[in-house]
Amino acid sequence: MEVGEPDFAPPKIVGTALSEACSKGYTRYGRARGRQEVLDALARHVSEKFHPTPQENVMVSPGARFAIYSAITTLLSPGDEIIIIEPAWPAYRECALNSGIKIRAIATTLEDRWEPDPGRIEDVTSPNTKMIILNYPNNPTGKILPEKLQDDIVEIAVKNNLYILSDEIYSTYSKNWKSILSYEYQNSIITQSFSKSHAMTGLRIGYAIAHNKIIDRISKLAALCLTSISEPIQYAAMKALEADTSEFADTMQRRLDVMSREAGRIGLEFASPDGAMYLFARTGIDGARLADEALRHGLAVAPGEGFGRYGDYIRISACQNEKTLIDGMNILSGLIGEYR
Ligand code: PMP
Repeated sequence: MEVGEPDFAPPKIVGTALSEACSKGYTRYGRARGRQEVLDALARHVSEKFHPTPQENVMVSPGARFAIYSAITTLLSPGDEIIIIEPAWPAYRECALNSGIKIRAIATTLEDRWEPDPGRIEDVTSPNTKMIILNYPNNPTGKILPEKLQDDIVEIAVKNNLYILSDEIYSTYSKNWKSILSYEYQNSIITQSFSKSHAMTGLRIGYAIAHNKIIDRISKLAALCLTSISEPIQYAAMKALEADTSEFADTMQRRLDVMSREAGRIGLEFASPDGAMYLFARTGIDGARLADEALRHGLAVAPGEGFGRYGDYIRISACQNEKTLIDGMNILSGLIGEYR
């Protein structure tokens, strides 16, 4: 119950696509941005699901992670600043630090339902601030922002000419969520991935959506480092778009409900997730110590300190069947009872 990796198999069509990719000619070097028909299919998918998007605003990448790293390192320069709203997936910070970018972290709290105060965002914004990262539905809290708050944050970004890097890879695991694409802000970069939406973590394929000028800049790094993205995997991803994966989201929601019920029963404090696949819970004891002890009892959870200054939190992932989740929560219950 530690990693965020769906335990579902990818849609069947993905296996078929992999076995026919060679005979379909998906075996060559190609453009770093991706094969034309794959970009066309992605643009159609994004236009249908999120917001009208032309194919020239799309690029594929080996997972969202590389798209995120590419955006940060090609659009920003050493010494620039980036705003990260915590708790946050740790790679944003690591990608920025690796590129000599300074972090302006905004810590949010459970009491505020993990909602950032727009005033604080304005306060930390200086002439050196070049980007804000948003990640809703969020890893680790599962929250999405109220629409008005999201509007206010976008307004601040526009006013200060900040890039918005919106990591939307959990969007299929939530309802009532609005993509940053819908603001039509020309300095936004949206990252998506087949890892969670289609349970294709090991195939390493995702994509980015941004204004064509930004895509041109970002994809130069892929050309430099990768030449192009594996063609059979691009083909499999294109075919995966034909599959209906709504069952994944329904299953994850049921599991989150079970976990929330159990977490409430054992006295953990948390805000009910609006989506994604995690529960981020305050335990009242040191999260790293609890995670260590849990491991000795056969349960893996992620300590909260990995996501910011959340030492007494743990992130519990719903990527197991319901029985395993209940067993895991019972192990936690026993340990918390001992420590409190
Ligand atoms: N963004 C977030 C918020 C994540 O949680 C993860 C994976 N855990 C990623 C990006 C990376 O996804 P990918 O497998 O597409 O690189």
